[in-house]
Amino acid sequence: TRRPLVAANWKMGGSQQLAQELFEKLSRLHDGLSEVVVCPPSVYLDSVQRMLSGYGQELTQKLVSLGAQNLSHQEFGAYTGEISGAMLKEFGCSYVIIGHSERRRMYGETSDMVAEKFAMAQKMGLTPILCVGESLAAREANRTFEVLTGELDAVVDKVGIMAFDNAVLAYEPLWAIGTGKSATPEQAQEVHAFLRQRLTGLSPCVGEKLRILYGGSVKSSNAADLFNQPDVDGGLVGGASLNASEFTTLCRIAS
Ligand code: 13P
Repeated sequence: TRRPLVAANWKMGGSQQLAQELFEKLSRLHDGLSEVVVCPPSVYLDSVQRMLSGYGQELTQKLVSLGAQNLSHQEFGAYTGEISGAMLKEFGCSYVIIGHSERRRMYGETSDMVAEKFAMAQKMGLTPILCVGESLAAREANRTFEVLTGELDAVVDKVGIMAFDNAVLAYEPLWAIGTGKSATPEQAQEVHAFLRQRLTGLSPCVGEKLRILYGGSVKSSNAADLFNQPDVDGGLVGGASLNASEFTTLCRIAS
């Protein structure tokens, strides 16, 4: 069985105060079965990590950990504005989001670069959360599976299927991100089952073990139906993660 995971992607939002409110609320939550990852903007990683450590076992027992939203595909050197995997590791990150559609579309991240970042994350001891998702145009043209296969295979071809033993996959349909209009539980399940099948075909144990998160307008009113699908193992949450009570509710729903 796969332990549910709920990840908060603050994107370019949130604050140190949000982290404080969130950890306070999570520390009062009953120990559940789910794991929680908070991915703040990188300038907050240090202070958020300190807050997290301050709670000690109260939060580590609840499997709350820290993640980053991006990393450089290079290890070190003259790359102005970039942050290396080693630095993220040094500042307490366990996870890193890779290939978010906002980075692919607005910052020109190609599938090749995404694959390199995935490999770099693992080399540095971070667990990648790899995002894939189709546009509305692709869905309407019945090209959903083709697009997802392309994005997934670009990484599998570079790192090999066994690398997915220590990774998380996130399905984030572009048309559901920040729109308030999430995929239906059936749509999510259909895609998650497809993605899992593709990986299971390469390695049954890796495919069965891999957690696949759904992302795109997840909120407390739709989370239960989404998370209850057999191949949906939790969520990658944007907007709703910027509200401490709402996000804590999502963590409770997932457990
Ligand atoms: P929203 O939850 O705001 O739709 O964002 C989803 C997302 O992109 C998480 O990475």
